[in-house]
Formats: sequence, structure tokens, C-alpha cells
Amino acid sequence: MRSKRRIVFLDRDGVINKNPVYRGYIKNRSEFKFMPGSRMAIRMLNEAEFRVIIISNQTGVGKGLYSKEDLKNITEKMLKGLQRSKAKLDKICYCIHHPDAGCLCRKPKTGMFKKAVGKVKFDHKNSFFVGDTERDTLAGHSFGVKAIAVLSGYNKRKDIKKWEVQPDFIAKDLLAAVKRIILQVKV
Ligand SMILES: [Mg+2]
Ligand SMILES: [Zn+2]
Repeated sequence: MRSKRRIVFLDRDGVINKNPVYRGYIKNRSEFKFMPGSRMAIRMLNEAEFRVIIISNQTGVGKGLYSKEDLKNITEKMLKGLQRSKAKLDKICYCIHHPDAGCLCRKPKTGMFKKAVGKVKFDHKNSFFVGDTERDTLAGHSFGVKAIAVLSGYNKRKDIKKWEVQPDFIAKDLLAAVKRIILQVKV
């Protein structure tokens, strides 16, 4: 039996669901649309006994563009959709603060990761953060897990090549990332 748990942290927008317009926000439940294959990918992670935790900046709340209640409704829609696909999340963490608030949770800071994990020991080497931005890659590396960049969000391969921090690997989307994760950790 494995002694330490493995965790896959997921960014939400651009990974699980389609991104809003550039620099925009998912402001209500009707704007939340699953990415093809993302629910199946999460189910595969469940079956492979990874913990699955969402780590998402939702700054639009702090900016007053949508409310906590809207965010709750969006989350409910996501959870219902996942449930229908027999996929489950172990935790969802949002940073809802304004960028100027100086909080410790807004990615690329690692406050949300630390809070999500608590004092539980986990297998850093076989844990991952899947995101679509340079900020996500930076956050993953700052927290000491492998960073995977997906091409289903704002960045294409040529954009990623210009990042100062490089992901451990690039995948087409969450499903492709998860297939590779599962192959990689299977010993
Ligand atoms: Mg994103
Ligand atoms: Zn925050």
C-alpha cells in the first residue's frame, strides 16, 4: 500500500471548463461550460486514487463583477455535472480577493495549496498542478509539485515557449494530461 497520497491540483477555467473571453470572468452558471473530456479525466484520477483539488483565482468576486452567491451557483452546476459523470472532487479552493488586497492565496502564491493540504503528508514527486497559464506553472513549482500546461486555455505551444518558467510537460487538454500522469506514476 502506498504510504503517501498523491494529489492532482487543477486550475478551473481553461482546464475543467471553457475559458471566458480573455481577461473576462465566468460570472454566472450559464457561462460555465465543461471542456470535452474533463469530467472523464477527473473520474480517471479518482479511479487511480489521486486526490483531486481545484485551486482557482476568482478575483471577479473581489472586483464586484459577480457575487459569492453567483460563484456558489457556478460551483453547484459544476458539481452536478461531475456527479452525472461519476467524477468527484476532494476539495475546491477559490481566492476571491481583489489583486490589490495582498492576500496569500492568490496564485502564483501558494496559500490555497497549503490550506487545502493542511498537515497531511503527500507525495510531492508524484503530485501535479494542471493549469493553462504561466502563473499556474509558477504556483505549481513554488509549491513543489510538477506543473503541466494545457493547450485548452489561453496559451498555445508557442506562447508557452516564451514563459520564464517552463512546465514539466505540455498536454493538449486535461484528458491528455491525466493519461500521461497515470502512465508516469504507474510503477
Ligand atoms: Mg485558467
Ligand atoms: Zn486570496
